[in-house]
Amino acid sequence: MKSATENIFSIDILGVRIDQIDEAGSMNIIRHAVENRKRLRVITANPELIYHAEKDEPLRDMINSADVIVPDGVGVVWAARILGKELKQRVTGIDLAIRILEEGSKNGWRIFLLGSKPGVAQKAATEQSKVFPGVIFASHHGYFTREEEPALLDKIRDFAPDVLLTGLGAPKQEYWNQENNDLAPVKMGVGGSLDVLAGEVKRAPQFFQRWGIEWLYRLISEPSRIRRQVVLPLYLMRVIQQKHRHTGHKET
Ligand code: UDP
Repeated sequence: MKSATENIFSIDILGVRIDQIDEAGSMNIIRHAVENRKRLRVITANPELIYHAEKDEPLRDMINSADVIVPDGVGVVWAARILGKELKQRVTGIDLAIRILEEGSKNGWRIFLLGSKPGVAQKAATEQSKVFPGVIFASHHGYFTREEEPALLDKIRDFAPDVLLTGLGAPKQEYWNQENNDLAPVKMGVGGSLDVLAGEVKRAPQFFQRWGIEWLYRLISEPSRIRRQVVLPLYLMRVIQQKHRHTGHKET
């Protein structure tokens, strides 16, 4: 399977296109899009999103229409392995967001942070300007109404971002980015990353990051997420079924 972006191979996991791309490769495409004012919609696809997309055709179509779909989490790397494919590396939303801030700081990018509870995106901008002083930030919280949306769109357009990081939770942020594709060259959904960038939520300790089990840390620190995480074993079961269905079928 060929991705929407030239020269990147992709694999099919439960009908969702996952690009065989790592952080460095994603950054090359993002940099190119900013420099050439090219529209680029990036989706970080985690097992939960893929699992729901299998049963929800409009969601699946929306995801598959993105320009870049990165494998967000070890669950996606495992699934690829089960299907006999290799993904170089997992690319999480928070890691890619930090790479974007790094690159943005070197090049004076304008980055709009949209999402999280009132005050959080603003705090993320303040905190991250200390680490990445070259970035020009603007922000807005993620609890706006339909009536407030036109003013928000004007605010973003006036700011003219190079990159829009949308943290409204999946898949709301992905639909929003698709609907508002003209707001910035690069748009990416980042889930709860703005809470982390603001210092409101702690990232998993290094140990969990190194082993790719940040989901386990999140489960321990927020047990209420159990209802969301039960989809993980169900997802792996569906992947194993896909493998049996597709034995002998070439996908790349
Ligand atoms: N959120 C928001 N607007 C909404 C719903 C959610 O800004 O209408 C924010 C929420 O405050 C949180 C993020 O979206 O910062 C979702 O985080 P979660 O950890 O659930 O997302 P994930 O990373 O799992 O996709």
